[in-house]
Amino acid sequence: MGRYVYDFAEGNKDQKDLLGGKGANLAEMTRLGLPVPPGFTITTEACRAYLADGREPDSLAEEIDRHLALLEQTMGRTLGDPDDPLLVSVRSGAKFSMPGMMDTVLNIGLNDRSVEGLVRQSGGNERFAWDSYRRLLSMFGETVLGVHKDAFEDEIDRLKAERGAASDLDLTADDLRELTRAYERTIREHTGRDFPQEPREQLALAVRAVFDSWNTERATIYRRRERIPTDLGTAVNVGTMVFGNGGMDSGTGVAFTRDPATGAQGVYGDYLQNAQGEDVVAGIRNTVPLHDLKTIDKACFDQLMDIMATLEHHYRDLCDIEFTIEHGKLWMLQTRVGKRTAQAAFRIAVELVDEGLIDMDEALQRVTGAQLATLMFPQFNSEHERHLLGRGMNASPGAAVGKAVFDSTTAAEWAARGEDVILVRRETNPDDLKGMVAATGILTSRGGKTSHAAVVARGMGRTCVCGAESLDVDVKARRFTTSDGTVVSEGDVISINGTTGEVWQGEVPVMASHVVRHFEGDTSTEDATVRAVARVMDHADKRRRLGVHANADTPDDAARARRFGAQGIGLCRTEHMFLGDRRELVEHFIVAETREEHDAALDALLPLQRKDFLGIFEAMDGLPVTVRLIDPPLHEFLPDMTDLAVLVAHEDDAGKADSKHHKMLEAVKRLHEQNPMLGLRGVRLGIAMPGLFAMQTRAILEAAAERITAGGDPRPEIMVPLVATAEEFELVRAEIEKVAAEVTEEAGFEVPYAVGTMIELPRAVLAADSIAKTAQFFSFGTNDLTQMTWGFSRDDVESSFFSAYLDKGIFPVSPFETLDRDGVGALVRYAVEKGRGVRPDLHLGVCGEHGGDPESIHFFDEVGLDYVSCSPFRVPVARLEAGRASAG
Ligand code: ADP
Ligand code: MG
Ligand code: MG
Repeated sequence: MGRYVYDFAEGNKDQKDLLGGKGANLAEMTRLGLPVPPGFTITTEACRAYLADGREPDSLAEEIDRHLALLEQTMGRTLGDPDDPLLVSVRSGAKFSMPGMMDTVLNIGLNDRSVEGLVRQSGGNERFAWDSYRRLLSMFGETVLGVHKDAFEDEIDRLKAERGAASDLDLTADDLRELTRAYERTIREHTGRDFPQEPREQLALAVRAVFDSWNTERATIYRRRERIPTDLGTAVNVGTMVFGNGGMDSGTGVAFTRDPATGAQGVYGDYLQNAQGEDVVAGIRNTVPLHDLKTIDKACFDQLMDIMATLEHHYRDLCDIEFTIEHGKLWMLQTRVGKRTAQAAFRIAVELVDEGLIDMDEALQRVTGAQLATLMFPQFNSEHERHLLGRGMNASPGAAVGKAVFDSTTAAEWAARGEDVILVRRETNPDDLKGMVAATGILTSRGGKTSHAAVVARGMGRTCVCGAESLDVDVKARRFTTSDGTVVSEGDVISINGTTGEVWQGEVPVMASHVVRHFEGDTSTEDATVRAVARVMDHADKRRRLGVHANADTPDDAARARRFGAQGIGLCRTEHMFLGDRRELVEHFIVAETREEHDAALDALLPLQRKDFLGIFEAMDGLPVTVRLIDPPLHEFLPDMTDLAVLVAHEDDAGKADSKHHKMLEAVKRLHEQNPMLGLRGVRLGIAMPGLFAMQTRAILEAAAERITAGGDPRPEIMVPLVATAEEFELVRAEIEKVAAEVTEEAGFEVPYAVGTMIELPRAVLAADSIAKTAQFFSFGTNDLTQMTWGFSRDDVESSFFSAYLDKGIFPVSPFETLDRDGVGALVRYAVEKGRGVRPDLHLGVCGEHGGDPESIHFFDEVGLDYVSCSPFRVPVARLEAGRASAG
């Protein structure tokens, strides 16, 4: 039979699975000989058994009794003894700390009789004893018996008003006794039963309440969102009470071993005299900074400093702690590795290295790509005077400023005339898409991180704050009202911070990130954070096996990507080379009726494209540039079919029929498709439209030849999109080779190049071995591969059913954000094996957006790709995560 209870003296910090985070760390502090009030932990296993069977395991009560007896022996007191009571706290503590879990109940063991014992025990401190008892009643009433906490707050507020008391400290012993009676009545009225007087029953009920709190709605939602497994259960910690509320020589506090906001060295914290438990964070009275403790109680302060140094050395990380001082004696009540901002994470990591506590590999594990990304977004200038309107969830990062608009049509109209707008809605739905695209930011008052607004905003990279519940949004009246009564109407400027969830009134100035400035070569704003980031990045570059390339289509983007550390271009799209003032040439090509017209159109495009490539090769001199031949369906380059039909009809009616427009309309009709994503695109286009790929190849290779002549070092790689079979690829490859031979001949020297393919269709995955026979490289197009594997198109589904799927947990995260390992990932793995089986030196990369996603990068490292390619802005994130993947 398993054991369900462990003494604090038995466990250690590595037993979080069994003892929960709080229990494991209490055990660790006990092991270290720190002053922890004795107690024991009921394991997560007991909780799991309780939840599975709907009742406590048979042996649990007996085991608790045994440990309680031991505790009573150690303390020389008995739980709830009327003369000299032992009191305990009951605290939840899962492996991961979780909002929604049961709050702590302090002072268990007090009842109408033992409260008198506590008076005697404290040398006649009646006020203290009744203060402790009334706290038990409200905590127990609220968390174990489910009475709303307002019921208790109303009572204390009423009493304070009656007595003219400014703070709870002004209430006398008699007042608190009266309050206790009032709380007893409150419990009776709300639950139909009396507060249980029997101490052991109090304990049992509190333990059960902790178990039950695992399944509260809030905890369940939180777990789903944070991807915490639902079957872990929580531990319960039962510890001897120590009292910070017995006088001014007592108190309670919280502290950090360094600043969790900036990472700066030096302890931080708050202390509150004559207080218990949560008082210090509840804002009941004003706390003092931790440093003031030095004058209040020097001995305790010094001891606390020693303990904090011990903990930091022991955990080799920033720790946060909770402590209580009872009549000049210091007690440690909690510690854990503390949460911190992104900025602090980098700084702390490298400073711990400098202090010799960790090495650089470890430092690399202490930061994340997501944290780096946070530091790369433009930030609001914090020195600016500003008014906070409200706060919501940080659904999609960034800083956005614009005029508030309350409907999609207005958003689109105002944006079209060049204004920045923030679309404000209660919640969004697929009808709002147009407005979301047009807006610089999105703000909703309802819904969480998987709401429609959040999912779509993240997909588009739009800044979004969602679920700002304190804002009362009135879409009809085109305004919202904040909790302090401020009204924001259509057209008023607001600023939203998608990284923190804050909503500000007016225009908050935005400043470029210092980290980005550093990457851009501007050292003028370098600070401790920037220097820390630079050092971590250096180490990541040393450690990583994966190369990092960028997706870039212009010389500017290429140059920027290079400054950000890209080692080449993994995807140079050529679509934009057919747009703008070249549209007309493309139209000529498409409507051409004779061979001559057709060739003339291509000939006109050739020099323009050559020039495009020239600039890109120059920016990426010495590094590979993977150029994808044209991929989208041709009708994307032609006028809209309906517009054109209307135009032609008008012209016909007016008797001014224009044969050019007629021809165009015919072409548009001919190229029209029901499912363009599955239609005439990619390699199919190259095969169906002779000359197109040859023209592009010639432009690429002539540009390369020109660079060589100019002393440059171009490394073109030609990539064929949407290949499904080896035959398709072979046809195109032969054409490319033919052009290459001609260019070599004309140039009089060899122009180096490679030819490979995208792997973005499931069929290409299955045929990877035969395709690899002639392809020199594969680049996984994971956007298309995801669409084709799941059978849905991103543009349609992200705004329709994705939020429902995320809410119901069918997707842990959108498969367009993080590669779906089990499905799409399995295909990638298969293609890697098949391809390398035929050609061991097959060069492998990925150019879908997943190439910049931290979790996906770890997967790509695992399956042995050579590089990832992502947008220039994500390049640093990819470098960092690739480093973490290797060093981890
Ligand atoms: P949380 O998980 O919300 O931090 P805790 O279990 O740490 O909740 O309890 C909150 C506070 O209650 C602690 O910070 C501490 O001040 C107080 N507390 C808990 N156990 C004891 C105890 N045995 N003696 C005195 N105070 C306690
Ligand atoms: Mg705590
Ligand atoms: Mg594609």
